[in-house]
This record gives sequence, C-alpha cells and structure tokens, in this order.
Amino acid sequence: MILHLKPSVTREKAAELAVELKAFHITEGAMNLLVTGSGIQEVPKEAEPYTDAYWVFANDIQLASRKYRSEKRSVRFGSVDIGGKSGNTLLIAGPCSVESEEQIRQSAQLLKKNGLTALRGGCYKPRTSPYSFQGLGTDGLKLLSKMREEFGLTVITEARDATHIQEIIEYTDVIQVGAKAMYDQGILRACAKTQKPVLIKRGFGTTLQEFVQAAEFILSGGNSNVILCERGIRTFETGTRFTLDLCGVAWLQEYTNLPIVLDPSHAMGYAYGVPSLAKACTAMGIDGLLIEVHPTPRSAKSDASQQLDHDQFEKLLNELKPVAQSVGYQIV
Ligand code: PEP
Ligand code: MN
Repeated sequence: MILHLKPSVTREKAAELAVELKAFHITEGAMNLLVTGSGIQEVPKEAEPYTDAYWVFANDIQLASRKYRSEKRSVRFGSVDIGGKSGNTLLIAGPCSVESEEQIRQSAQLLKKNGLTALRGGCYKPRTSPYSFQGLGTDGLKLLSKMREEFGLTVITEARDATHIQEIIEYTDVIQVGAKAMYDQGILRACAKTQKPVLIKRGFGTTLQEFVQAAEFILSGGNSNVILCERGIRTFETGTRFTLDLCGVAWLQEYTNLPIVLDPSHAMGYAYGVPSLAKACTAMGIDGLLIEVHPTPRSAKSDASQQLDHDQFEKLLNELKPVAQSVGYQIV
C-alpha cells in the first residue's frame, strides 16, 4: 500500500511513522509517501490521521505501477528527457566493451556526427567464461569520461558488482544493471542510494513481475530515476541468442509507469537481425533503443557477431526516424 501523507505532515513526522509502521518513506518533491510491506490492504490505524490518499495493490508492484501513477515517469538521461510526455526514443549506442582509446573515440565520433548523445560501453563485463575478455575496468571508465568531456556525450556503463557503483558515478552518467546482475541485492541497494539514472536489464530467466520488483528495490530506496530494459529471454530456441519479448514490453507499457528501452542486439545475437528488430521495437512507441555498434565488429573483444558496423548503423538510423514519427515519437 502507498499512503500519501497530508501536506501538513513534516518530513520528520513522516520518517517517524515509517519506522513505526516498518514502511519505506519516499519523498517526491514536497510530497511524503509511505510504502508498506506486502499485502496490506487497509490504512494502518497509526497513519490514519496523517493520510489523505492511498492506493492498494494486488502484488508488490507499487511505486512502478500505473495504478499509483497513471502517467509515465520522466527520467533525465544526460541532456535529454525520456518517458513522460517527451516523445523521445533515445538511441543509446556504442560498442559492447570499451577496448581502447582509439576504438571508443571512433564510436563517440559516430554519435556526434549523427547528432546523437548517448554513448554506451562496458568496462566491467559479466562474461560467462573467466577466460574471455573481462573489460578494462577503471581504465575504461576513464576513457568514457574523456569522451564525455571531449564530445559532450552522456555515457552509460555497467556495474558488475556493488563496489563499482562509486567509481561509475564518478566517471559516467547512467548506471546499467545487467541481465546477470539484476538479482544482485547489493547492486540494487547501492543504486537506490544515488540519484543517478539506472537502466536495469531484465534477467533472461526473469518473469515480468520479478523484473519490476527488482526496479521496486531502487524506487523504494529513494531513487526514482529507473529505466527498464528488455533484452531478450531464454526460450527453447537456439537459432537466435535469446527471444525478444515484445509481448512483455506491451505488458510493461500497460502496467508500469517506467520508461522502457529495448535492446535488440543482445536478444538477436547476430547483426543481420538487429535493424529489422530495432524498427519493430520502435514501432511500439518506446523510450529508447540500445544498439551495439563497433568500428570493426569482427575484431570486437566481446559480442562480435551482433555489433553493427558504422555504415549499417547510419543506414538503420535513417530508417528508424520515419518509423518513430509514425507512432508520434522522435529519435534523439
Ligand atoms: C551489455 O549490455 O553489453 C550486456 C552485457 O548486456 P546483458 O546484461 O543484457 O547481457
Ligand atoms: Mn554486449
């Protein structure tokens, strides 16, 4: 249950009530909210005199639900807003991994040349094998930070461990929580303690309910800047890397108030399918796309098969623009 406290209730009083009720105290502007534990359907007696509105829920999707906020939340992603009434489909692009200064500069130049602002690049890679390239770590973060300064870009990178969050905050703009890390409570709780935007990817064996509950960890901890990312789930199919769950996207659009980004690159696993999937995703009226692009995909140190080259990327960008427009969005 979410309780909306009367405007006369001070933050201190709200915090006191939260302790008494074992509830979360959330502030949104001057507004004080209490979010109670699972299954509570009636306003607790102690909170009655202080409450002027409340919402009850059938499950633990509370702050993320459309029932609580019928309008989609707006999240500032560097220089642009996504969600809300922005009508923006943000094209987040860059290589799977930051590999060298030369490589990430070429990616930054590609974005700049095409009027795009959001550069991705992994520095802590959650690889399935310990023998694969694990990322450049702090050196990679420094390169992203350099590109941010030189080109005025917004940069996003993944936290593989809660101990990475502080330096990611220092060097970059948006924290990515990967599909494999999505269940990591340490990472989720650390993300809740900052006001940086967090893009959380759906685990490939995760139900929609579990996915949104992971987002609730961040929201209930006090960070409302949460973006959901569908990147494919594991099915019986082996011809493609994963199965992009577009039905799930429709579900998230119906039941949640969070901006939604789609990642066709990791879902497909092969560059040949990425452009058509990206267009299909865009036609759903989404808040962002995450596309892997590399100056020389064949030599990429991770996810070589799915990264577009620069020509393929520019062709896709041109094709995406009218698709976005046809559903009332624009590619930014
Ligand atoms: C990535 O974005 O490079 C990545 C590792 O993605 P995922 O967590 O979706 O596998
Ligand atoms: Mn990748």
